[in-house]
Amino acid sequence: MNTLKTPVKRATGFIAASLLLFAGMAGLAQAALPDGAAIEAALKKAFTDYRKLEEGANADYIPALAEVDPNVYGIALVTTDGKVYTVGDLKTEVSIQSISKVFTMAKVIEESGPRSIPENMGVDATGQVFNSIVAVEQYKGREMNAMVNPGAITATSMVKGDSYDAIWNSILDYYSDFAGRKLTVQEDIYKSEAATNQRNQAIAMLMHAYGHIEDDPLQANDIYTRQCSVGVNARDLATMAATLANGGKNPVTGKQLVSPKNINEILAVMATAGLYDDSGQWLYKTGLPAKSGVGGGIIAVSPGKFGIAVISPPLDPAGNSVRAQKAIADISNALGGNPYEVVPR
Ligand code: GLU
Repeated sequence: MNTLKTPVKRATGFIAASLLLFAGMAGLAQAALPDGAAIEAALKKAFTDYRKLEEGANADYIPALAEVDPNVYGIALVTTDGKVYTVGDLKTEVSIQSISKVFTMAKVIEESGPRSIPENMGVDATGQVFNSIVAVEQYKGREMNAMVNPGAITATSMVKGDSYDAIWNSILDYYSDFAGRKLTVQEDIYKSEAATNQRNQAIAMLMHAYGHIEDDPLQANDIYTRQCSVGVNARDLATMAATLANGGKNPVTGKQLVSPKNINEILAVMATAGLYDDSGQWLYKTGLPAKSGVGGGIIAVSPGKFGIAVISPPLDPAGNSVRAQKAIADISNALGGNPYEVVPR
């Protein structure tokens, strides 16, 4: 009488086993991203929770940054399947500043291979501030990384091109492809930093003296200053981050900008040194490779899931946007964005 039952049981067992196998093959030890309504709710909550937070202050060592409206506050999240979620100010652009370092490093790796970065400036935390001269002196320009100024200016010097304009245009075009629209320089920010960046000039000269920057260190520093002055809004930044989350392919435009095999190294350096001296604390809280800039932006990458960005100019003493850190941590943690968070099989 149970002739009917047995095959049903077998079939059920077979389906369950197939599902498990499928889950294993698809790497489903990580929970999937919640639906769009949950993402929207997480963004709205973080926006509201921190809108009134009045901590921190604009950077002012670049005089024009002190003039930026501290109330600008925008959040954007772009999923790896190209959906865009936003709240707050999406129009106002701030200068990308140090977030640019990620994309110039990506360009160097694409042009010269992933070994080019560790072989020149290294991929280690310096334990010093981002524009430290001591850090250069300590290992003669080695044992550092492309997220701090000596490494970043050196990375800019490694971008291929026959002239200032050729190098600059290829950097700007590359950033624009990440954002999915033509980006431009905020000239007032560029002029202000170019007039006051003697310390970075000194760093560039030292990196040249130690053989890391081959030719014209002051040109490299000037192009670096220009790349830091590119204007971006929160949506631009989130799309740039989402391109890294999506194996190097811009999920909105579909353009492949970094070879998938080169993404790991970029995210590793972001995780090591993306949030200045608080990079370890940030990783402990969120697990997300991220990069912040003194213009008030932070990008973060949840690999395979989403890129997120928040713009809010007031910074904490470490140089990271106060609201951006809180909003990104809350949103990502609410959505299971931490790549170290795994559910047992
Ligand atoms: N252009 C800035 C500098 O080199 C970038 C600093 C930053 O955002 O960390 O000082």
